[in-house]
Amino acid sequence: MNIKERASKIKMILMDVDGTLTDGTLAVLPDGEELKSYYVRDGMGILMAHLMGLKTGIITGKKSKALEKRAIKLYISELHQGIFNKKQTLEEICRKHELDFQEIAYIGDDLGDLSVIKVAGLSAAVADAHPEIKKHSHMICSLYGGKGAVREFIDIILESQGYTWDAIEEKFIALWTKNNTI
Ligand SMILES: [Mg+2]
Repeated sequence: MNIKERASKIKMILMDVDGTLTDGTLAVLPDGEELKSYYVRDGMGILMAHLMGLKTGIITGKKSKALEKRAIKLYISELHQGIFNKKQTLEEICRKHELDFQEIAYIGDDLGDLSVIKVAGLSAAVADAHPEIKKHSHMICSLYGGKGAVREFIDIILESQGYTWDAIEEKFIALWTKNNTI
């Protein structure tokens, strides 16, 4: 199966955080709290996926209160933090939503992602992922983690599912008109 065929079956997009939705850098404050930066175009891609009927989720090894807030703001339905065994969490998510692995897309950057990368219907490595992740992913993004790789992945999925930019824009305008925000 090629990327387009795999992408056409996807119903949920799952993502790693550090090094995938962020560039992997952490600023550690004196109280131990960690600061990270997220990329606006990735967030837009996540909203676009929801508007076109896809579900999204996050599986991360770390725990962050700021991430909880970002996930709520972006309407991410599955947020799993402090996860060591990501494949086990994937199985739980699939059971809950009655999805097969073939209907899951996953994007990651490092060894903690490997067990999911190997079984997801469509898997992607960010451009600066660990070589082992690149080796086992169906595709390698041209953009880096925290710098648009997630958006690139979502764009490919939406395009493969036949959604045009006009159709996506139309949905955005409808949502904006209804809520005066997105
Ligand atoms: Mg990572």
